[in-house]
Amino acid sequence: MRKKISIEPAKRVKDLPPYLFATIDKMKEKAVAKGVDLIELSIGDPDIPTPRHIVERMRKAVKNPKHHQYPSYVGMLSFRQAVADWYRRRFGVTLDPKTEVLSLIGSKEGIGHMPLAFINPGDYVLIPSPGYPVYPVATLFAEGRSHVMPLLEKNDYLPELGKIPRSVLAKAKLMFINYPNNPTAACAGRAFFRDVVHFAAKHNIIVCHDAAYTEMYYDDDRPMSFLQIPGAKEVGIEFHSLSKTYNMTGWRIGFAVGNKKAVAGLGKIKTNLDSGIFQAIQEAGIEALATKDSELKKIRAIYRKRRDALHSGLTQLGLEVNKPGATFYLWAKCPKGYTSMKFTALLLNRAGVLTTPGNGFGAAGEGYVRFALTVPVKRIDEAVRRIGKIL
Ligand SMILES: *Cc1c(COP(=O)(O)O)cnc(C)c1O
Repeated sequence: MRKKISIEPAKRVKDLPPYLFATIDKMKEKAVAKGVDLIELSIGDPDIPTPRHIVERMRKAVKNPKHHQYPSYVGMLSFRQAVADWYRRRFGVTLDPKTEVLSLIGSKEGIGHMPLAFINPGDYVLIPSPGYPVYPVATLFAEGRSHVMPLLEKNDYLPELGKIPRSVLAKAKLMFINYPNNPTAACAGRAFFRDVVHFAAKHNIIVCHDAAYTEMYYDDDRPMSFLQIPGAKEVGIEFHSLSKTYNMTGWRIGFAVGNKKAVAGLGKIKTNLDSGIFQAIQEAGIEALATKDSELKKIRAIYRKRRDALHSGLTQLGLEVNKPGATFYLWAKCPKGYTSMKFTALLLNRAGVLTTPGNGFGAAGEGYVRFALTVPVKRIDEAVRRIGKIL
């Protein structure tokens, strides 16, 4: 008989934080097995299909044999040009498509690879909590150290840069920020971004702004790009995604823009690990970026109705919940006596409503749950009705 080898995960895998959603997953499975009519408000994945013109462009592009070969690593120049055109139209920011734009297999991919490109073992990465779990995990994979910047309600969910210890700053190399924010739905203005540029320049830190939600807004006052701030391109890079804006989460396409050296460094990791995005998808991406605002307005109107329904519904039930100016999330305080997990379990087991416990986004998210606006108004009304019965 052959001897069995021992298959041991690497330390970086063993060091992954415990999967907080395991309990919830089990409860969800149980509920589904019992035949509960579950209202799923936990995942940040649009339920609305990708606009037709984008799907049509893909349909045509997929038939073209030239797209069947390896794509260019850095992305088709036509896609990067479309990104630069979009940035100029939308933000008034000029980008060189050859050196300041990099296509990504979804922005998660770029965010995940960023620490690998710039972090040496022991370097610090400044990370918001609550926040997108990829920031700390990617830091761990690159053998960096996370320094948590708590996002607190009393500070409008902006990090207090002045509170970061000197000893951390001396070894800090990257900083992640994300506005409009997932999960708190907070927005940041010019003043905050200015502070960040100044701070980064002073302490020699590369800013990574995750801008996945700039197009998911409700007011006339549209979210900004970090790169609109003078000097931002000297210190940072911005990650963008077609996923949420154009209902394209399954397509896997995004991009990074900004500082040339940051873009090149990230590109270097990518050329050694992946071979780019299927070109037919890049063609669809070009089409997406040219989507008429009238089309996007319709999508925003759908989310606005949902937001208003859930916000007023939960508020009337006495829950303390924000009315987001952007993103498709509502960040609700748990009632007295409930932790995030306990409240999530209550909503799931007694109302058949699935939300995300706030502590799943980091310790500073404890005491909150996140609702995603990913079901039609009728289902939102039903969720509110059911929650009303148990509160
Ligand atoms: C959804 C999301 C992303 C990633 O989107 P991709 O589909 O990988 O482009 C990145 N950051 C945040 C905060 C998100 O919520």
